[in-house]
Amino acid sequence: MRKRLRLIALSGFLTTITVAAVLIRSLFVEQPEDLAEFQQAMQLIHPLHEKKKPPERGDWLAKYGEPGQTFQDFVDFGHNVPTPERQTIYVLPLGEFTPAQDRLIDKTTELLGLFYGVPAKRLPNAPLGEIPADAHRGSAENDDEQLLGPYLINDVIAPRIPRDAFAAIGLTTFDLWPGEGFNFVFGLAEGGRAVWSLHRYGNLDGDEREQARFRERVFKVAVHETGHMLAIPHCTPYECRMNGVNGIDELDRQPLWFCPECEAKIWWACRVNRGDRYQKLADFAEQQGLSEAAAFWQRSAKVLTSR
Ligand SMILES: [Zn+2]
Ligand SMILES: [Zn+2]
Repeated sequence: MRKRLRLIALSGFLTTITVAAVLIRSLFVEQPEDLAEFQQAMQLIHPLHEKKKPPERGDWLAKYGEPGQTFQDFVDFGHNVPTPERQTIYVLPLGEFTPAQDRLIDKTTELLGLFYGVPAKRLPNAPLGEIPADAHRGSAENDDEQLLGPYLINDVIAPRIPRDAFAAIGLTTFDLWPGEGFNFVFGLAEGGRAVWSLHRYGNLDGDEREQARFRERVFKVAVHETGHMLAIPHCTPYECRMNGVNGIDELDRQPLWFCPECEAKIWWACRVNRGDRYQKLADFAEQQGLSEAAAFWQRSAKVLTSR
């Protein structure tokens, strides 16, 4: 009997919590009519997008089961959105870079501003200094030198983030690992902070094709990690920049653009002018020699502005 009473008390307690959660949520959840224009725009661009192909051996989704997240889930349950006091994305270069890498950091900063429709600024380079032994492994001689991503985020990037930052992303030429169980990561994000690496993208001083491929890989990881800083998780139903990625081949197979569900999260969170943003992204991609992305964003601009 005592056990039963405890169960009844517990169920009463859980009911109270559930009612409170529903009431609190109703205070913050957008009303359906406010979201209708976003849903309509999603419908317009939907035919341009491709369903996620089945994962190949070794791909992210072959290894990790993930649920994905709809636009509605993002609005209702989890997001980090820019506010008037906190709306700038900062890019923080960590250590030294070649002139070509330096120009690429400027271009990446520009792309993040266009993609997320908020101010994006580059901070002065931060010295890496003495790296603690537990945040460092491998050696330059064996070409397997790596830095611990969470150390860079918490100890190097976090103290340098300006007050008006909505998101801050550090960039290094060192290879990164995120902690136990992983060989490497292209980048990682924790809350509104992230770090990504230029280490695994090929030859930035190669021929024009190699340079464009290097740039595209850098842009892909920067856009992806910044998406995580808005609290957008990995995307599973479409071919999308927010798909998880397990290696360079998989990164190359994925697009630079977001799917309709993930796009709507940016439209809503960053209050962007949709058609204008697509046109600017198309112009940027064209200028960077990324013809596929340029054509895609051009088509997207057209369907949104030709109604
Ligand atoms: Zn990710
Ligand atoms: Zn998506």
